[in-house]
Amino acid sequence: MRQIQHWIGGVSTSGVSSRVGPVFNPATGVQTAEVVLASVSDVDHAVVTALEAFETWRRAPIAQRQSVMFSFRELVNARRREVAELLTAEHGKTVDDALGEVQRGLEVVEFACNIGHLLKGDYSEQVSTGVDTYTLRQPLGVVVGITPFNFPAMVPLWMYPLAIATGNTLILKPSEKDPSVSQLFAEMLSEAGLPDGVFNVVHGDREAVDALITHPGVAAVSFVGSTPIARHIYETGTRNGKRVQALGGAKNHMIALPDADIDLAADAAVSAGFGSAGERCMAISAMLTVGDAGDRIIEGIRSRMDKLTVGPGDRPGVEMGPLITRDHLERVTGYIAAGVDQGAVLVADGRDLVVDGHENGFFLGPTLFDRVGTDMSIYTDEIFGPVLSSVRMEHFDEAIALINANPYGNGTAIFTNDGGAARKFASEIQVGMVGVNVPIPVPLSYYSFGGWKDSIFGSHAIYGPEGVHFYTRQKVVISRWSDPIHRGVDLGFPTHG
Ligand code: NAD
Repeated sequence: MRQIQHWIGGVSTSGVSSRVGPVFNPATGVQTAEVVLASVSDVDHAVVTALEAFETWRRAPIAQRQSVMFSFRELVNARRREVAELLTAEHGKTVDDALGEVQRGLEVVEFACNIGHLLKGDYSEQVSTGVDTYTLRQPLGVVVGITPFNFPAMVPLWMYPLAIATGNTLILKPSEKDPSVSQLFAEMLSEAGLPDGVFNVVHGDREAVDALITHPGVAAVSFVGSTPIARHIYETGTRNGKRVQALGGAKNHMIALPDADIDLAADAAVSAGFGSAGERCMAISAMLTVGDAGDRIIEGIRSRMDKLTVGPGDRPGVEMGPLITRDHLERVTGYIAAGVDQGAVLVADGRDLVVDGHENGFFLGPTLFDRVGTDMSIYTDEIFGPVLSSVRMEHFDEAIALINANPYGNGTAIFTNDGGAARKFASEIQVGMVGVNVPIPVPLSYYSFGGWKDSIFGSHAIYGPEGVHFYTRQKVVISRWSDPIHRGVDLGFPTHG
């Protein structure tokens, strides 16, 4: 059985722990590899290695850090299809979807290539006689990245290009469900000229995570995953003196107003509801239809769902792959059963789907509920599967109030041709990322990504300008180089007057 190992100090190692976890191909249900699961001493070895590397890397010229990012970008770009196929084999998403994931991750590498500009400080000359003031942005030290299964390439890329380019060293703890791509990227970073110990990968579960977020040698933690774990990471990390950004789960709503382009809205609901089998933190899972938009959009969605092709992600023409594990498949089908029991109208049921030749794969077809009540678990919970719930509303204001009352606030979208309604929505909605006739509003790398409320803990969004701020701290230098004026002792507070 192939073994996926840690990458510490530029070396592949199984560490000292004897624990391993299974890695499956979700399309076949067959275990394809085992991943080593780190112990506390494996984590300590990684932190000590990253601390040693930090002493040199923090002094590395910006030109060297940029050069590594440019080379890494070229290497990933040249092998993007191989990367995408690896993602499909462990995550299950289609190869096209995986290529999109690689592309969106590379955008952050491209942003990090620009680190020279991003680290520029301020300078004020002659704030007092012979006195100048300037600012520096300096790295924090050893940074940890802990990432979810659903974007095994892109979400880590939200973290390490900027963490490294700003002069930190990093330990990545990727999801144990689809860990191979992190190994491949570690090798590519090394090939790109990154010194050993600057980027490290430690595989594992709760034991590794808790050791990382409490280790005295770790300065900061970037986390992306579900809300309960994000809250745990934030509370434990900050209690242990770390800077923490922890992005959590989501329940993203889309509103369709009666004046919307119904074809555009139905296309968007199907794409954003069922893309990547609904395993996206920006997936649309609640459709709020206002007034007579309801019947028209439900019909538009249903007719499009009939034409979706579900199957193994590496088969040409397939649009939706399997779920990540059998446990997750059972969890999602449990929600569908609960929706039926609680009285929602099941318009399309994905549970009967059988994919020929892949009977043991973790497949579930796209599922649509109408007339969902806001107290039903299919509405209240993040399902993270291909299940779309439609809630009928009389008025636009009711829809806004419902979204604002939701504990999550990651993404949302409105479909309308009324500019005033769209403007009111963008202004009043309590959500971090807002789409106007755009179903999945994921910002480009020169903006930052982050939700509100229980979708994020900590004050920094991820990547973009906020990413640079998260991975650095500012220093202000006030210096006097001037004619040798000696004013003598003055115990008054300096006013620069
Ligand atoms: P998860 O929270 O189960 O796991 C995320 C990471 O935490 C993994 O590396 C995992 O090993 C680790 N982990 C799991 N349980 C732990 C525990 N008890 N203690 C310490 N560490 C633990 O999330 P997942 O199932 O891998 O990913 C899906 C979730 O991630 C969804 O909720 C989704 O919305 C969320 N997500 C959010 C964003 C965002 O940007 N807000 C992006 C992608 C995914």
